[in-house]
Amino acid sequence: MTAKRVIIIGAGIAGLAAALRLRRSSWEPLVLERAPSRRSGGYAVVFSGIGHDAAERMGILPGLQARQVGAFDLAYLRADGRPRFTVPYATVRKVLGGGGMALLRGDIETVLYEAVADQAEIRFGTTITAVRQEAEAVEVTLADGTVERAALLVGADGLHSTVRALVFGPEAQYRRDLGHMVAAFTLDELLAGASRRAFTTVTRVGQTFTVAGLGGGRAAAFFTYGTDDPAAEVDKGPRHALQQAYGGLTWAAPELITNMREKDAYFDSVSQIVMDQWSQGRVVLLGDAAWCVSLFAGYGSALAVGGADLLGTALDRHPDGIPAALRAWEAGLRPEVIERQAKGRANTGLHAPRNRLELALRDFPLRLAAVPPVTRMLTRHLDFHKG
Ligand SMILES: Cc1cc2nc3c(=O)[nH]c(=O)nc-3n(C[C@H](O)[C@H](O)[C@H](O)COP(=O)(O)OP(=O)(O)OC[C@H]3O[C@@H](n4cnc5c(N)ncnc54)[C@H](O)[C@@H]3O)c2cc1C
Repeated sequence: MTAKRVIIIGAGIAGLAAALRLRRSSWEPLVLERAPSRRSGGYAVVFSGIGHDAAERMGILPGLQARQVGAFDLAYLRADGRPRFTVPYATVRKVLGGGGMALLRGDIETVLYEAVADQAEIRFGTTITAVRQEAEAVEVTLADGTVERAALLVGADGLHSTVRALVFGPEAQYRRDLGHMVAAFTLDELLAGASRRAFTTVTRVGQTFTVAGLGGGRAAAFFTYGTDDPAAEVDKGPRHALQQAYGGLTWAAPELITNMREKDAYFDSVSQIVMDQWSQGRVVLLGDAAWCVSLFAGYGSALAVGGADLLGTALDRHPDGIPAALRAWEAGLRPEVIERQAKGRANTGLHAPRNRLELALRDFPLRLAAVPPVTRMLTRHLDFHKG
């Protein structure tokens, strides 16, 4: 029987949220994850807007709230470690808005996983190699040669989606590189000179480096820098690439880069995925696989959870027609995705200012962030809390 069976590729935020939401509508999810086991940690994300509202409807909001990063200031340093200015937490809170939360990506996944694990089959260490669609079902071949059938296939396998490549064509058709690299990894301990209660950032023209105290003895490092050739940076590997890019930076970076565990680091080009269509027949892409807005938008996790929730609603409303449900879902969500992608592109200079003017323009409102009209302006500009 395939009538309400759904195969979901990827157990990241989008895949687990889809499994949880579709299970609530009596679907039977089979989740296939390439990694051998659950990932944890990752990097800090702001979770807000439609993600927050969907999390409330899906019953996971209390779990997320319990795991959010405690109060933190935004401290800005010079390249040699001397302080420049600090945005206090009270102001950060206002800019995040009522619903905005800072969380580790892995903690969002953990909350989703704990909510769905005993209601869905989740297989690790496996992936798909082929997809075949029929009128009433979709057939998926796994890496070990086994074949699974379902009424719906959800590709929630991230920026470098295999489902997208198999069904919609090569990634190069859809990927737009934003001319920056990102590296992020968790730290065993906080660095000397970085506050336990702060995200401490050094920004120079073309690059940013942050050490985030995440509470509970946890900390993470986060680097973004500009490049004309992301593929060449990826080829170098994170340690070599970061050593070259952050050569002259004295505060903390060289030590962190030398000691990083390369295999645990997230290191990739900052990219968006732009597609005319997120579904084809009974196959739908969700999350970064469909629309990656990039970390510069600060909204990918929200769209992953919000998108999964809306997908469940659309399927409920079109019980007899999956392709029609997928089209209706896409029509409802696309305007917000387009807006967030535009914000992601516009925010590039915030993370790694391209010149001294952009750096000054970025710093000016941050320095004055506690002044009410500027707080309101930043809140509107960053727009974390729109529901
Ligand atoms: C450094 C950084 C900072 C960010 N900051 C924010 C922020 O502040 N706010 C925000 O909302 N968003 C932020 N984002 C974006 C957010 O993390 C993503 O949009 C979100 O995690 C997307 O989730 P996803 O499930 O779509 O994809 P992913 O997290 O990429 O998950 C995909 C899953 O699929 C698995 N997979 C991949 N290929 C296969 C395959 N072939 N077969 C089986 N499984 C496969 C992967 O192992 C993974 O588990 C940030 C991203 C980065 C990199």
